[in-house]
Amino acid sequence: MSKVHNVIIIGSGPAGYTAGLYAARAMLEPLMFAGYMSGGQLMLTSDVENFPGYPKGIGGPEMMIELREQAERFGLEVRDQNVESVDLSEQPYKVVVEGETFLTQAIIVSTGAESIWLNAPGEEAQKGRGISTCATCDGAFFKNEEVMVIGGGDSACEEATFLTRFASKVTLVHRRDTFRASTIMYERALKHEKIEIKTFRQVKEWLSDEKGLTGAVLEDPRDGTTENINVTGAFIAIGHKPITGFLEGQVEVDEEGYILHKRHTMTSVEGVFAAGDVVDTRYKQAITAAGMGCQAAMDVEKWLEDQH
Ligand code: NAP
Repeated sequence: MSKVHNVIIIGSGPAGYTAGLYAARAMLEPLMFAGYMSGGQLMLTSDVENFPGYPKGIGGPEMMIELREQAERFGLEVRDQNVESVDLSEQPYKVVVEGETFLTQAIIVSTGAESIWLNAPGEEAQKGRGISTCATCDGAFFKNEEVMVIGGGDSACEEATFLTRFASKVTLVHRRDTFRASTIMYERALKHEKIEIKTFRQVKEWLSDEKGLTGAVLEDPRDGTTENINVTGAFIAIGHKPITGFLEGQVEVDEEGYILHKRHTMTSVEGVFAAGDVVDTRYKQAITAAGMGCQAAMDVEKWLEDQH
């Protein structure tokens, strides 16, 4: 408890590891709490094709393992533990992990975001029995079965395309007829022979029997008409929400819970910085998160210098 760290990094996606790499190279001896599922959302992604420097693409988990190794090579200490709470009321700040308290001058929050569920009637009981938010994790359970994906963004198109590896048919269900997904991702899904796209449909209710999910009632939001779809697997890909619960309102956030930057990457609390999807309402890319992680580490270095 007595040692005061220069900087503790909370969260371990591209933002956290890049912050760790830069902070370690700046000789700040950073300590990272990576979470029980270290690596963040990219650990649940198949191929990353848009991170510069990988002409053939790279698996999300492989990329995160390499980023971690790179930061550890320069001295980043990583612990695969979750932070329970922080106390930012006075310096040094306190970070509580499994009942143990760590002291630090600066903090970088890079906890990212987690999937949003639809919360349609019947959903709770079928989580893990047919309804999932992670095709990479659960797709292989649906070999030669019919599945659906809900959403109109890059995640939905990517998951639909990925699921064609296993499923006999994938129905992509979107509530509008305009897709947020990038053209390349949308067209890949559109052109795939196993994918059917249904627009102007949203899940009204999930259907199930004693074995698990059997389908859903889909509603047309324009006129309320309904139809049933028969699927044994459903993948919800309707976006993410930032992970900030452990901050317990001590840092200013926007109406959706994203942390607000006040000066460069510094939050409303002096010495507390934030980077990546926990801040980013707009870009949410691995490369932008990594860039922001770099900025946060450089801002911490400068801020620590100014304290002396
Ligand atoms: P997103 O772009 O926010 O898309 C969410 C989709 O879900 C939207 O089409 C939205 O519909 C729909 N939706 C939201 N709430 C809904 C509800 N209650 N019922 C039905 N549909 C609902 O989220 P995302 O696809 O997860 O992507 C997030 C970010 O990550 C984006 O910046 C994306 O580019 C990035 N990403 C990149 C890659 C890649 O480059 N490889 C892969 C995945 C994600 P509306 O359009 O009607 O609002």
